[in-house]
Amino acid sequence: MSTDNSKVDITIIGAGMAGASLVHLLAPARAAGLSIALIDRQPLSWDKDDSDRPPSFDGRATALSWGTRQILEELDIWNSIAPYACSIDHIQVSDEGRFGQAQLHANEQNTEALGYIIENHRLGQGLLSGLNVSDSLHVMAPNSVETVRMTAEGAELKLDNGRTLTTQLLIMADGGRSPLPRQLGIEQSRKDYGAQALVTQVKCEKPHDHWAYERFSSDGPIAFLPLNNNEYAVVWTLNNDEIDDVLALADDVLIERLQARIGYRVGKISAIGERLTYPLALVKSSEQVRRSLVLLGNAAHSLHPVAGQGFNLTLRDAAVLAEHLNRAAMQEQDVGSLDVLEAYLQQQSADQRNTIAASDLLPRIFGSKVPAVALLRDAGLLTMAAAPVARRLFARHAMGLGHTAAKLG
Ligand SMILES: Cc1cc2nc3c(=O)[nH]c(=O)nc-3n(C[C@H](O)[C@H](O)[C@H](O)COP(=O)(O)OP(=O)(O)OC[C@H]3O[C@@H](n4cnc5c(N)ncnc54)[C@H](O)[C@@H]3O)c2cc1C
Repeated sequence: MSTDNSKVDITIIGAGMAGASLVHLLAPARAAGLSIALIDRQPLSWDKDDSDRPPSFDGRATALSWGTRQILEELDIWNSIAPYACSIDHIQVSDEGRFGQAQLHANEQNTEALGYIIENHRLGQGLLSGLNVSDSLHVMAPNSVETVRMTAEGAELKLDNGRTLTTQLLIMADGGRSPLPRQLGIEQSRKDYGAQALVTQVKCEKPHDHWAYERFSSDGPIAFLPLNNNEYAVVWTLNNDEIDDVLALADDVLIERLQARIGYRVGKISAIGERLTYPLALVKSSEQVRRSLVLLGNAAHSLHPVAGQGFNLTLRDAAVLAEHLNRAAMQEQDVGSLDVLEAYLQQQSADQRNTIAASDLLPRIFGSKVPAVALLRDAGLLTMAAAPVARRLFARHAMGLGHTAAKLG
């Protein structure tokens, strides 16, 4: 590639979960002769304690659905991350101070696991270390894209190092807070949940035996998710007006608060790790495709994490997008063609709509203190506890299986 005016077929801004996954999925397009540039303002290798890494790969842990495992297996990524992924064999969903409770078990669903929990930095290492950099893949990191402009041939990008890049297709996988889409007149709608996720890890005296707990407590849903070091990743949704007080608590007091919320089903909590917070909002971009342009991942839709579906949905989006782009590349069609990109969006729109609706509904139902809603919630949980069919449907959704799979490769 020349140093000043560079030209690539596909440019991906952002090497977070969305962008890094897409690069792997586009291996057939590269084999068909297309060149790809992957740009991120953060360095793409790091030590566990470095804060200087893509935000996708920070101190959180992510719930991967069974469907996500299947895609990662096809991409040969699963084997490298499997030693760090803890299977969820059982899920208990309960409501503090009420009767409802439901349990899901992998063996009832005839599957090896209901899903997996992995620390994000491990997932990031798996996604990024396996990138096969060659003549057809140019990785530019740490490099920031400062401006984007659509042109008759595709798009033109200016980087912080003074380089200009032209591309036939631009994929913006630059997260939910990037100003770049606005440079193209693409706006975001934002529904603020008025809450934040407090994320931490805890050690408990009882082994987790691969149980995940989702508990809806008076001050917000709380999830205890099993990790492969026998600790739990904890995600606690707190209202904005409570978060500062909780963050100011000493470790032993916070442990007591968490213990009171989750009870002793996890055993006695003996230690707590670093605390991270994330503001919660449903963010959707006003457009996802244009000629020569796709918005992917959080740039397209950023969801409430209570259902653990943001990355799982993004990976399904990326797999279907790649299916269309790989086919176009192999047939020597223009990968920036509006027909190709609209066909992708049309195929994924029902999945996006359903997953976004479910992730928006759950916090509203389980956060409600209105007595009628609480009764319905009990009834729902009891129905789930009693009815194998309801459990199977819920499990299929949580496992990321209720969707038409993309054809990879
Ligand atoms: C608390 C919490 C828990 C979650 N739990 C789950 C879960 O259990 N399961 C699940 O499926 N999902 C979960 N998610 C969602 C998941 O984390 C997101 O879907 C995912 O991180 C989005 O990745 P992304 O690549 O789209 O965006 P980002 O991670 O924001 O990546 C964007 C990248 O673009 C780069 N970038 C931005 N602007 C520029 C620029 N101008 N130039 C160059 N580079 C740029 C950034 O450096 C960054 O690396 C959770 C989210 C939260 C907040």
